[in-house]
Order: sequence, then structure tokens, then C-alpha cells
Amino acid sequence: MQAVTLLGSTGSIGVSTLDVLSQHPDKYWIYALTANQSVERLFEQCQCFNPEIAVMLDEHAALQLAEKLKAIGSTTQVMFGLEALSTVAESEHTDYVVAAIVGAAGLLPTLAAARAGKHIMLANKEALVMSGGLFMREVEAHGATLLPVDSEHNAIWQCLPVGSKQQYHYDGKGVRKIILTASGGPFRDYALADLEYVTPEQAVAHPNWSMGQKISVDSATMMNKGLEVIEAHWLFGLPASQIDVLLHRQSIIHSMVDYVDGSVLAQMGNPDMRTPIANALAWPNRIESGVEPLNLATIGRLDFSVADHKHFPCLALAYQALNAGGTSTAILNAANEVAVEAFLQRQIKFTQIPKIIEQVLATITAHDGDTIEQILADDALARALATELTL
Ligand code: NAD
Ligand code: MG
Repeated sequence: MQAVTLLGSTGSIGVSTLDVLSQHPDKYWIYALTANQSVERLFEQCQCFNPEIAVMLDEHAALQLAEKLKAIGSTTQVMFGLEALSTVAESEHTDYVVAAIVGAAGLLPTLAAARAGKHIMLANKEALVMSGGLFMREVEAHGATLLPVDSEHNAIWQCLPVGSKQQYHYDGKGVRKIILTASGGPFRDYALADLEYVTPEQAVAHPNWSMGQKISVDSATMMNKGLEVIEAHWLFGLPASQIDVLLHRQSIIHSMVDYVDGSVLAQMGNPDMRTPIANALAWPNRIESGVEPLNLATIGRLDFSVADHKHFPCLALAYQALNAGGTSTAILNAANEVAVEAFLQRQIKFTQIPKIIEQVLATITAHDGDTIEQILADDALARALATELTL
């Protein structure tokens, strides 16, 4: 039996992961579940899965959860705070750590899992975008295994030659490029001028995937794909020039690897995160995920087109930050998190998101990003400036 710590269990990835785990009670048990502040949801999950530990970031929420669990005679121990997230991620009692917290908040516990040499199922792309080089060095130094859950990266992982557990650190031999597919989000067919007036409700209504709010807005701006280009750079060790983005509106091909001999390998499946989650969990084996079999005859056609940087300026900004290197990608990520939240709160227009990020990138001087302190310092500077720009 393998023990699993699930960071961010109440979110979209968290719930999909619990669904997969519940199909294999003979293989996995849950050591810890964590959430930000949703007491009710974490309480229900504790009732269902009876973890040893439940962590809430928020102290008040943790007290409420502890009371509710006590009332039903549960043995689950409740902890709170940022450090407790790292404690359950690095615990000797866990084998797998699912990194499914959204945004920069996931960085420190995911890094703790890397330093403790865990099997890390990485959904929290922002952690890697912020700390890329440092994170990969820690993974290597402590013998951790990084298993990509993001559907595109999981697809590429499946299309790369089968190798050791360092498969993700493939040296690029024989690979011409990797091609990340993108649905284009809800505004792919909008005229540029109409983007000015789109609402948060429209932005979070993704045509193919059901996801958390932040990643849904990122998909609408295509910053999500930009973050994924950066994520792919660190996971697979390829330069930006060998990472392409292709619009594919049906989200059936999740990504491709283009080899020098002219072969292109693609991974396909219905757009359901339980497939990459099950793949990462069972790797190098395969287990049932509960996802409907793919029926290409029903789908009928697959379309592809160029991802236009004018239509999606956030994609261009992500390439720019990746090429600039160092903490530029942490600055990009921080400015994006602030701008997206301000858009969701109706403080700024959708079209201001890339403008704010561009200005923050142009104003703040990036550093080499070799220490976590430096990364967090530049993240904080970028957040402060981006917040000013949203007012
Ligand atoms: P979500 O908003 O649905 O869930 C986020 C989870 O993180 C929740 O459990 C929440 O309680 C927790 N959380 C939020 N803020 C926190 C904080 N400050 N401290 C501790 N915990 C906190 O998000 P999601 O859609 O599940 O996405 C999670 C991550 O997975 C993101 O990084 C996203 O980019 C990535 N991802 C998601 C999908 C998807 O289909 N949803 C696909 C690929 C990658
Ligand atoms: Mg993705």
C-alpha cells in the first residue's frame, strides 16, 4: 500500500485525484488531506477517506474542522498553517505527494516534498514556473520523482522514450520539438476589440475542461499555456525555441513530441484530468481512471491552427520571461496572479491583465533565482507593483 498526501484536496484536481484513489482502495491510502479554508468540503472528505491528518491553512477554519470531527468520533488529527503543509508533504509516513494547491502558495510545501525525496505528482505548475532551476536541482539532489499531472506534460512524458525515472530530464536527443496543444479557451473566436468587455463569468466558462477559477481565467488569456511552456522547459530540459504551441479546439490530443526522423507521437484521450492523474499515480504501470473510452468516430474531426501572439499577448509575455531567465518567470507569475484576482473581483478589465504583467516585467529587475529567498523577494515586489497597477 502506498501512502498519499494530497495538497489542495478540495480543489478541482484534488477532487479528481480522490475519485481515482477511491477506485483503488487496495493500492493506496490517504495520509493527509489539505485545504485553504473550506471546512465543509474537507470535513466531508475526512468522513469519506479517514486520513491520519487534515491541514487547513486558516487557523479559525482548522478549529471548526477539529470540532466537527471530534463530534463524530473521528481519529483524524487537525493541523493548521503553512508549516503544517510542509510537514505533511515531507513526512516519512507518505510516499506520494499530490501538489494540487493553486498558485505560489503551493511552492514551499512542494519544495519540501522534493527535499524529502517523494514521488511528486505535480499539478501546481506555478511552483515550477517560480523556482524552475532550484526546484529541479532539489529533485535531483534528493532522489525525488517528478510525475507530471498537467495534461500536456503528462502527454509529452508518455510520448518520450521510456527510460529511467529521470525520463522527465530527457536530454532532447532525437527530439526536434515538443508541441503543446491549447484549446484557445472561451474567447478563441472573439474579435480582439470584443475582449475589452468580457466578464469573469464568461472567462471561467471553459469550453472543454472544468477547472478552478484561476486556471480557467489563465486559459482564457492563454497565460496558462505560457506557464506550461515554462513548465515544459524545466521538466524536459528543452529551450524555448524547441517548445511550440498549437491551437487544437477539441482538446483530444493533449500534446505531441516531434522527432528528427519525422515521427510525431501524440497522446490522446477525452479531456478529463483523471487520465493524467491515474497515469502519474501508477507510473510506470497503468490503472483504471474512470474516464470514458475515447470514441474518435463520434468526435469526427480534429482541428489545428496557429496560436496568434497578438490575440493572446500573455503567451508572448511568458516566452519573453522564459528567455530573460532567472526570477523573470516568478515575476511574471506573481503579476499574473494579482491581475487575475483583480479581474475576478471586477477591479480591472480582461484586457488589462497582459498590460499589467508587461509593465511589472519591464519595471522590476530580475535576479538569477538561485535561492528561495531571492525568488520570494522578487515575487513580493512584483505582487506589490501589480497591486498598485490594479487600483
Ligand atoms: P482550485 O482552485 O480548484 O483548488 C485549489 C486548491 O488549493 C483547493 O483545495 C484550495 O483549498 C487550495 N488552496 C488555495 N489557496 C491556498 C493557499 N493559499 N494555501 C493552501 N491551500 C490553498 O484549483 P485547481 O483547478 O484544482 O488547480 C490546482 C493546480 O493544478 C493549479 O496550479 C493549476 O494550474 C493546476 N492544474 C489544474 C488543472 C485542472 O484541470 N483544474 C489542470 C492542470 C493543472
Ligand atoms: Mg494543462
